[in-house]
Formats: sequence, C-alpha cells, structure tokens
Amino acid sequence: MMKTDVLIIGAGLIGASTALQLAMRGCRCIVIDKDSPGRHASGANAGGLRQLNRDPAEIPLTVEAAKMWRNIEALVDSDCDIRFSGQLRLAENQSDMDKLEQRAAMVRDMGYQHEEMIGKKELYQLVPALSPHCVGALICREDGYGRPYHALTAFRRKAEALGVTFHSSTEAYTIEQEGEGWQVRTSQGTFSSQILVNCTGAWAGQLAGLMNEPVSLTAKALMLMVTERLPHFVDPVMGAASRKLSFKQMQNGTLIIGGALIAKLDFALEQTEIDWHQLAKSANTVVDFFPQLKDVRIVRAWAGIEGFMPDNIPVIGASQTMKNAYHAFGFSAHGFQLSPVVGRIMAQLILEGRSELPIEPFSIGRF
Ligand SMILES: Cc1cc2nc3c(=O)[nH]c(=O)nc-3n(C[C@H](O)[C@H](O)[C@H](O)COP(=O)(O)OP(=O)(O)OC[C@H]3O[C@@H](n4cnc5c(N)ncnc54)[C@H](O)[C@@H]3O)c2cc1C
Repeated sequence: MMKTDVLIIGAGLIGASTALQLAMRGCRCIVIDKDSPGRHASGANAGGLRQLNRDPAEIPLTVEAAKMWRNIEALVDSDCDIRFSGQLRLAENQSDMDKLEQRAAMVRDMGYQHEEMIGKKELYQLVPALSPHCVGALICREDGYGRPYHALTAFRRKAEALGVTFHSSTEAYTIEQEGEGWQVRTSQGTFSSQILVNCTGAWAGQLAGLMNEPVSLTAKALMLMVTERLPHFVDPVMGAASRKLSFKQMQNGTLIIGGALIAKLDFALEQTEIDWHQLAKSANTVVDFFPQLKDVRIVRAWAGIEGFMPDNIPVIGASQTMKNAYHAFGFSAHGFQLSPVVGRIMAQLILEGRSELPIEPFSIGRF
C-alpha cells in the first residue's frame, strides 16, 4: 500500500498546482491520474490568460492569478511561453459599447482597474488588420496567452523536484474513510492518506457523489481549431461582445479559433466527435472580423472534455460532509488562468484551514 499525507486525484493543472504548493510547504503528496498528466482539459485548452469579463466572484482570484503568471518563472522554472499581449472584447455597434461600458463600470465599482474601455481610434492602432466596422472594445492590457501543455509540464516537473510523485494510469475506483484518513482503491493498488483532494475535472461529480455531496456538474467537450502558420498580424486575444468568438495568433503564427463550441461527447467512452457545422460558423465569424483570412487553411480541430457547473464558477473548498477532504473542480472553461492561485488556495486551506482570498462563493454547499 502507498502511503502519503495528501492524495490528489487528478493530474490536470489544478491537481499539479495544488501538489506544487503543498510540496513548497514541506507536505508529502502523491498525485494519481486515470490517464496521464494533462491528458484532458489542461492539455487541450486554448491557453487564454484572461482577467477580462470574469464572473464578479472570480475577480479577486483572477487578479491574484495574473500576478502569479507575470512571475511564473520564479514559481515553476519556466516562462510557460507566455505572451502578455492583452485581451479585447470587441464592440460592433453602440448597443455593444453600452453593454461593455456597464461591465467596465461594475469592475471599477468593485475597486479594480484591470478592465477599461477603448474607442475606435485606439482599437485600430492596436489591431490595424481588423475589419473597419468595429466601434471600440473592452480591454485588459495585462492579459495574454500561454502554452497549456508547457505550463502543465512545468508545474508537474517543479512539483516532482520537490518530492511529489505522479502516477499515471491509476484510476480511483472507491474511497473509504479510515479513522481520520482515507483509503483509495485504484487500478494500481490501494493508496492511504490523511487528506484527499478531488481535482478530477469533468469526472469530479463521481467522486463528490462518493463523498455524499452530489453536484450538478456537466461534462462537455469544447472544440478548438488551428490554422496554417501565417505571418504575424495580430497581438491581442480577441472575443466579441455579442458573438461567440475566441481568436488568437500563437507564437508560431497559427491562429487558434474557438468560442464555446461544443462537440458531440460520449462521456462513458470518452469519445468526442467534431461538429464541423459549428466550426464553419465560427470560422465565418472570424472572417467577418478579418476578411483577409477567408482562404486560410484549417489544419486541425480537436475537443477537450471539461466540467461545467450550472453557474459557471468552480467548486473550491473543503468537503461539507467528510473530514479531511477537499474539492477543486468545475472550472467551466476558464481554469487555466486560475490554476496557479487555486493551488495556493488549496494548500492554505489544507495546511492552515483558511484562504487569504474570498472563496465562499465557490463552496460546494451552494448546490
Ligand atoms: C478546448 C478547451 C479550451 C479551453 N480554453 C481555456 C482558456 O483559453 N483559458 C482558460 O483559462 N481555460 C480554458 N479552458 C479550461 C481549462 O482547460 C480547464 O478549466 C482546466 O484545465 C481544468 O483543469 P483541471 O485540472 O480541473 O481538469 P483536467 O485537466 O481535466 O484534469 C482532471 C484529471 O482528472 C483525471 N481523473 C478523472 N477522474 C479520475 C479518477 N477517478 N481517478 C484518477 N484520475 C481521474 C482525468 O484523467 C484528468 O486528467 C479550456 C478548456 C477546453 C477543454
């Protein structure tokens, strides 16, 4: 039997970041994954680092996460290939502008400065290649993008250097409380720990169910597509105020295009099927904003399985039914940005029983 202080189930970014922060505080931990680190959402995502347009409950966390990404090399010995190019939400008419202005005012009223409005002139200085019909944008100049798999690997390697072990192909089947601690039966034998952490992404509902705290988590397969390489022509990551759009030019010149597009998913078999019709619609949206891209070739499309909560904000915190058990899951398509700070919050909760940032809105008890 393998023994440890903290057993983290799920080796995505959230599990790896939690393990790293615990190890930095001298805690022994093991991370297990039914597949391999970064096999699911954490390796398949679009790499967007976004404070812009977050749920108000997430703003304190995302602002702190942004500071951590700025200084990521000090944490994980890698720059994760990040570009701080800014993120924009484009307005195509006055009604979009009004909506975005309301948003910027709400963020200012909360005491934060990271989201601001820009007018047409500055927008076209920032993105000269944009179709001329836009009228302004909401911008977060400090946002940007990174490479998800690079980041996951850097978090994992740094955690390993501090003594954490990662076990792939190790699926948790059952969990049982043993005294104050836990016994977890897996496909590779039994693990015993004082503390259990559920970082199982889209599968987290199953583990929460075993802890008698059912949650309405929905697994969805989000699609992305990537184009051939193009000469550099755009810096900021772009979304739109009233259309589904997520668009960025990567370090190597390819364009990554998404926008909350959902593939068909057989969750039991973990099989996804790309919906080309939806992707075509999304490609057309991009061409509306950048008509010069109409002949660019799409070279690949893929889908990653992610856990969505009904209110689109995650569950972060202690179990309310079981002692020495914690949850961090349901990041609803925006957990890459939050991953460094969530690891820190989890380590604080587990070792000190408190979080420096407000996490009440993320309680599992809200369901
Ligand atoms: C296509 C796509 C685009 C995205 N774009 C962005 C973006 O631009 N910006 C952003 O901030 N976020 C984005 N996200 C969201 C982000 O990727 C996720 O929120 C984040 O990676 C969640 O990390 P996680 O560790 O919770 O989950 P995951 O990475 O899914 O990790 C969970 C792990 O748990 C393991 N597991 C499950 N059950 C068990 C079990 N019983 N035993 C052992 N292991 C188990 C799984 O194998 C998996 O590896 C995107 C997601 C997708 C899918």
